[in-house]
Amino acid sequence: MTLQNGSSDCHINLPKIKFTQLFIDGQFVDAVSGKTFETIDPRNGEVIAIIAEGDKDDIDLAVKAARHAFDNGPWPRFPASERRRMMLKFADLIDQNIEELAALDSLDAGKLYSIGKLSDIPNAAEKLRYYAGAADKIHGSTLKMSGQLHGYTLREPIGVVGLINPWNFPSQMFTMKVGPALAAGCTMVVKPAEQTPLSALFLAHLAKLAGIPDGVLNVVTGYGYSAGAAISSHMDIDKVSFTGSTVVGRLVMQAAAASNLKPVTLELGGKSPFIIFDDVDVDKVAALALRAIVYNKGEKSVLPVRAFLFNTMRPQVDEKQYNKILSYIEIGKKEGATLLAGGKPAANKGYYIEPTIFTDVTDDMTIAKEEIFGPVMSLMKFKSVEEAIKRGNATKYGLAAGVMTNDLNIANTVSRSIRAGMVWINCYLAFSDALPFGGCKMSGFGREMGMESLDSYLQIKSVAMPIHNSPW
Ligand code: NAD
Repeated sequence: MTLQNGSSDCHINLPKIKFTQLFIDGQFVDAVSGKTFETIDPRNGEVIAIIAEGDKDDIDLAVKAARHAFDNGPWPRFPASERRRMMLKFADLIDQNIEELAALDSLDAGKLYSIGKLSDIPNAAEKLRYYAGAADKIHGSTLKMSGQLHGYTLREPIGVVGLINPWNFPSQMFTMKVGPALAAGCTMVVKPAEQTPLSALFLAHLAKLAGIPDGVLNVVTGYGYSAGAAISSHMDIDKVSFTGSTVVGRLVMQAAAASNLKPVTLELGGKSPFIIFDDVDVDKVAALALRAIVYNKGEKSVLPVRAFLFNTMRPQVDEKQYNKILSYIEIGKKEGATLLAGGKPAANKGYYIEPTIFTDVTDDMTIAKEEIFGPVMSLMKFKSVEEAIKRGNATKYGLAAGVMTNDLNIANTVSRSIRAGMVWINCYLAFSDALPFGGCKMSGFGREMGMESLDSYLQIKSVAMPIHNSPW
């Protein structure tokens, strides 16, 4: 089998799909219901594989395994150096299987195989290494109390965690959540997006090969309304980390509150402004903006979709997403925006859309306000720093922003005034495992990556005791 329709992706030998069942308590098993679903190749709409469709019963089994592993198993009790050792082995196994993982994500999500091999999969391994290095550096503090007492804090794993992921970076999102959870000593149930289940199952197999004990890392494939909802409402899950749409994030938070009040981390949608001042090299900035908007075929929540001034295409992930993007393009035209480029399907099969640029876009137009999550950019003009800040902030989202200028005063003013979790100055899409990432406003709360993410899988226990060993 060879990958089709992508210039640099032609003639890549694809692996046989080895894992299609749920991974619970260290075993690959069918769903309790026996149900399955199809995972589709977005290049041509053809079925890649038939995958076990987990639902509430399977989540219950996975949580039971994770609970047992947390309450009685070695993972949270290991010396941290042992957790680090296994996580490093897990990362090495990812590197050793880089081609297979890149091919699985390419096939399932329509991503560029070459980018997967050069970036997505190595980054997935690096995220594990970053958190492996932190596993044995989790410290509490010692505090002086009044009188004859002193106190100290323990930072303990929060327990069983539910990790719900979207489809745009399947392997990276997997280790972005699994890495800090493992380092903290948590056990977990991962639900990958129904569009991209393949790499999560393969990664579960690698975790087992790395020696991570049974029950620590479980993967339940299936749909959000059943398997995903069963995670957020589960009474025996202690925390949920969710990445996905704002609409579903709200449901996750409601279910968490209505069940056992579990804390949630929400990484949600975005509508990021990219503010370009006239003192920069416009050609260079235009090239950067274009690269950014077609990066991962526009399926990235931080893309600079409102460029205040502005190849290799890949298919959108599925038919639903493809139709949604085309309908937004139609709405943009109807509401009076001028279509400068693109705007049409880019192939007669598969879910390809041309990179699309609108001009004459006003702040009240639907395409300026709502997240499209595709390769569509709106160009908008501004006259002053104040106007750029005001209009950049005129969105319900607050995930990311970019500012391009050679004026330090402007760069500092804009970056401090934009309400977003991440601001890039004279660059875009620059990430580091050490740099916390997340949103504000309706882009969610909590942070992934950096030590901030590790903190969210830990809870603080305060201990007080007399200094002298006598009753206080
Ligand atoms: P989605 O919200 O539809 O699905 C995300 C995940 O949630 C999937 O695994 C899905 O099965 C599950 N899910 C669906 N309904 C659920 C429910 N009721 N309860 C629990 N889980 C449920 O999002 P998507 O379409 O897969 O991804 C695109 C969205 O994700 C965009 O809005 C994008 O901005 C956002 N996203 C955000 C970030 C970030 O870092 N902030 C990163 C990637 C994607």
